[in-house]
Amino acid sequence: MPKHAVIYARISQDRTGEGGGVTRQLADCRAEAQRRGWPVVAEFVDDDVSAYNGKTRPQYRAMLDAIRDRQADAVLVWHMDRLHRRPIELEEFADVCARAGVGDVVTLHGEFDLGSSDGLFVARLMGAVAANESDAKSRRTKRKQLELAQAGKPSGGGPRAYGYQADRVTLDEAEAAVIRDLASRLLAGEPLTSLTTWLQDSGVRTVMGKEWRTPTLRNLLKSPRIAGLREHQGQVIGKAVWPAIITEEEHSQILALLSDPSRRTNRTPRRYLLSGLCRCGRCGAKMVTGQSRNRRRYMCRSGPDFGGCGGTMISATVEELVVDAILYRLDTPELAAAIDGRHRADESSAALSESIAADAAKLEELAEMWAAGELTRPEWRAARQTLDARLIANRRRQVQQAGSTVIAGHMGNASALRAAWGSGDMPLGQQAAIVRALVDHVIIRPGTMGARSIDPSRVEIHWRL
Ligand SMILES: [Zn+2]
Repeated sequence: MPKHAVIYARISQDRTGEGGGVTRQLADCRAEAQRRGWPVVAEFVDDDVSAYNGKTRPQYRAMLDAIRDRQADAVLVWHMDRLHRRPIELEEFADVCARAGVGDVVTLHGEFDLGSSDGLFVARLMGAVAANESDAKSRRTKRKQLELAQAGKPSGGGPRAYGYQADRVTLDEAEAAVIRDLASRLLAGEPLTSLTTWLQDSGVRTVMGKEWRTPTLRNLLKSPRIAGLREHQGQVIGKAVWPAIITEEEHSQILALLSDPSRRTNRTPRRYLLSGLCRCGRCGAKMVTGQSRNRRRYMCRSGPDFGGCGGTMISATVEELVVDAILYRLDTPELAAAIDGRHRADESSAALSESIAADAAKLEELAEMWAAGELTRPEWRAARQTLDARLIANRRRQVQQAGSTVIAGHMGNASALRAAWGSGDMPLGQQAAIVRALVDHVIIRPGTMGARSIDPSRVEIHWRL
């Protein structure tokens, strides 16, 4: 007795050309029905709905109803993955078929008799494979990434890394030489911005053919990759298969240098007492220090990384003017009141240190939890953000408190300080600490070209204390 068959076809979103089209699926199934001599009682086609994403498939539901109503005793489908992509669907389908006595489920890629335990097993297996394939597409990619990382191999996505050829393993000798040069100059105390300028001036380009910028350069120099280390999701997990351009020792020194919040004050022997404190009175940009016509100066600079107007410059003798103002202020009652007020307003420094230590410990704990798989990366990142923000704020407060301490010893004793300052006995670093404790910033107004001495009205000191 001929079977009465229903045909089911579905457009899959991840169709790969051959056999993917509904027309092709239907044609193949009709041909198969004809070959078997089965009349086709109905065709069900779902369009543009992925069976996997759990959206309803109206025609699929209609087909199940037809089977329940015993309108058919065989099902023809092009491939099992058109029928179900989740194991739970297969179980429902098998159940409906069993109740309706439908034993023949024919796919053009194998035939199942769902009535037999073998057939059901195979169908389950195929269903499981299909489900797993969709489900695990991203998991597989992640897994693969992890395997590559554990083997120290490159991951292969995106543009190549600077210093290495397109295979990500062979050194690009010219670029590697540039990196070594950059690393040793940075460790010798040259500021990142100056290295950026050097790259730009020498016409060295990034792998994308663009001009270097300081953030890009910072990332390059901080990256474990150039020390021959493999990183995975922000953590170094071992040695890489590619050669190192700088040593691991240099790598950790660079990390320490670039993540030290106080590096601006202790990185290099200071030569400018007010560096980082002067702002251009015309455009508001931070003024930079440098030599011009053999004289030390503070300048507003335009151009990459500076962003100023380039219109203001002042001789470094402005330092004397600021120092005079500081020494005067140290003996004023206003300062005494300001320091006293600050001491009372601030939390005690012990409580601050305690909070900083606790947050740092929590951060470490979070990192361990993430490494142990107890946290997802987004969870880790979210938890970290709060802690990081508080840590930064607390450290800033700590620095400010240290500032008041620096000043406290000199209050009311400006004449002794003036003597020490003038004798050249006081190291510039100590002078700078006093200046920074008192001065928030100094606004420098544009001056007259060629003026012999500094007009004091060009200088406006904004006090912290
Ligand atoms: Zn300016």
